[in-house]
Amino acid sequence: MDCIFCKIIKKEIPSDIVYEDDSVVAFLDIKPVSRGHVLVVPKEHSSDFLSAPDEVLENLGPKVKKVAAALVKAVNAAGINISTNNGAAAGQVIFHLHFHLIPRFSNDNLPPWPHKDSEAKTRAEIAEAIKKNL
Ligand code: AMP
Ligand code: ZN
Repeated sequence: MDCIFCKIIKKEIPSDIVYEDDSVVAFLDIKPVSRGHVLVVPKEHSSDFLSAPDEVLENLGPKVKKVAAALVKAVNAAGINISTNNGAAAGQVIFHLHFHLIPRFSNDNLPPWPHKDSEAKTRAEIAEAIKKNL
């Protein structure tokens, strides 16, 4: 499979690995959004969060927490964004599940999310649709 993160996992291409165990690897993002931007990646290939087996996600959560806590201390961050892009429309470019750990600093000038006002009726309809699909 021609997957760049699988190649990093197999050490076929170099990366700045900060954590590795039998099921997870974490390395510095090559184009960081902020200083210390890290990617946490399960070794088992899944294309994204929604298609990953539950066992992979259950194992991944505590590892994300462990690396994020170390990262916050290492770069003296004031906060951290922890996120995963799911699908091209959400900005996903590499289709091997990964969590972004993006340290945040006061006055780092990263753009805030563009929140909008919403109507109660619209929220109720969306909430109902989600509940029907669970
Ligand atoms: P996403 O848009 O969620 O798929 O994020 C993919 C991330 O992988 C981006 O932030 C890229 O900068 C990062 N990236 C791409 N290639 C490499 C690489 N060889 N080593 C480290 N990070 C990479
Ligand atoms: Zn892969």
